[in-house]
Amino acid sequence: MTDSSKKIQLKRLYAWYARNKRDLPFRHTRDAYRIWVSEVMLQQTRVAAMLPRYTEFLRRFPDIESLAAAGEETVLRAWQGLGYYSRARNLHRAARIMVAQHQARFPEEYAAVRAIHGIGPYTAAAVLSMAYGAPYAALDGNVRRVTARLFASRTTAEREFQSLADQLMDMRGRADPGVHNQALMELGSTLCLPTNPRCVQCPLRLDCNAYQQGGVTGAVTYPVRKPKKETIEVEMYIYLIKPENDQRILLVRESNSRFLQNLWFYPHRLEFANGATDRAQETRSLTALEANWRKMPRKLAHTFKHSITHHRITGSIHLVQSKLKAEQLLRTCGNLSAGQQDWQLVALEDVSAHVVSSIGSKVRHTLARSGAV
Ligand code: SF4
Repeated sequence: MTDSSKKIQLKRLYAWYARNKRDLPFRHTRDAYRIWVSEVMLQQTRVAAMLPRYTEFLRRFPDIESLAAAGEETVLRAWQGLGYYSRARNLHRAARIMVAQHQARFPEEYAAVRAIHGIGPYTAAAVLSMAYGAPYAALDGNVRRVTARLFASRTTAEREFQSLADQLMDMRGRADPGVHNQALMELGSTLCLPTNPRCVQCPLRLDCNAYQQGGVTGAVTYPVRKPKKETIEVEMYIYLIKPENDQRILLVRESNSRFLQNLWFYPHRLEFANGATDRAQETRSLTALEANWRKMPRKLAHTFKHSITHHRITGSIHLVQSKLKAEQLLRTCGNLSAGQQDWQLVALEDVSAHVVSSIGSKVRHTLARSGAV
């Protein structure tokens, strides 16, 4: 049974955190911008993979103003390798809003932060607590797991998780809210692990309802999992289209692209195993371009696999020679898409400067492996 009224001895957690915390650069600062960037990067990326990019990102964009002043392409390029590019786009857009409306500062009021498009409740709470010492409980996957176990709660409702995390925040006594949030996250990522929690070493084991009721075997039954989203198989047909007498290839960028919104990528077509249709303009433009192909596309022998959210993509690459010269091809593309897409021709060796997505890297590796171009 959940006993959320019992006071949890969080002092033990803070003492454990002080002794065991990993030495990370964003833990040595109260600068809201630096903490914000670290939190956004860490949302889908492991610490080890994120650290070198974090340092480099801050070198290029040392403050909100420099980030806001940069072009989107430059920011996306600096994000290369981290994936989930909507994070970079939101970060960039939010920086511009902060320059325009908040004197280039990360606001100190929760409501003002949440009013900025792209900053969710977790990021707002994490940054406000760590930078300004505001008592907002940051609820990420680690904290969700720790709280569910501490309170032996079988909830799957986000609001209930938040309420448990808020209760813990209220129990912190004189501890700094930022330290409190970080200590819980650290516990979740180092001891309170999803499948093999190290309860014997845990500073909160005496207060942990799940452990006290059922030991480690009981603890791993929390939190209760929501049914997983069904995986959807997707075939992605990628076209490397060259104009007549030209070695460059065509790239497209579209805001309605299913997986690659506003990112440069190769023209492609998607087929979904569950019968869903791809409504992006890209597909329609590609169909119209086929009228100008010199001969049928040549398919490369190698394919690649890639996952985006619950979609499992099988990618195949096709080489295409267009009958149109460069100028004509670009003009045709522009007419087809009526301003809804951008197009450009790029030499193959320069593609990596434009195609920054992780699926784009897979295409490049597949091309290199095939030795086709
Ligand atoms: S005792 Fe185990 S389950 Fe409970 S908080 Fe600690 S590590 Fe997690």
